Amino acid sequence: MRCPFCGNVDTQVKDSRPAEDHVAIRRRRFCPACGGRFTTYERVQLRDLVVIKSSGKREDFDRGKLERSIRIAMQKRPIEPERIDQMISGIVRRLESLGDTDIPSKTIGEIVMETLARIDTVAYVRFASVYKNFQAADDFDKFVSELRPASPAEE
Ligand SMILES: [Zn+2]
Repeated sequence: MRCPFCGNVDTQVKDSRPAEDHVAIRRRRFCPACGGRFTTYERVQLRDLVVIKSSGKREDFDRGKLERSIRIAMQKRPIEPERIDQMISGIVRRLESLGDTDIPSKTIGEIVMETLARIDTVAYVRFASVYKNFQAADDFDKFVSELRPASPAEE
């Protein structure tokens, strides 16, 4: 695994342990070249998913993008980070089991909303209010970019 700080490819695993109730393996890594430390997660990927945007453009599904949008909606909510990871894994597992590897961006938005509605009302409302504006555009990228962290003034 290449060091994200200096680009050295010879990094070391210092610690490996199960995460998310054994759905993932979390590895702490160390770069001997620059002393940098970082964490990687190993997860089962059942299928390679492709997101179909409203424009018809195809894009590889990016778990990180999904994760960012959900973490923003969940900001400062009293939900354990571990629970959020499990939720994201659950959503990905659902997407993987849809039967088709090509998934409209709209379907992803709907599954996220459905999941949030069950877990946290505030996060759901945050996500849904953006989703409402986004429906016309029907583009998951736009959706994610419109989800901004709450401004400090709201605290
Ligand atoms: Zn390094």
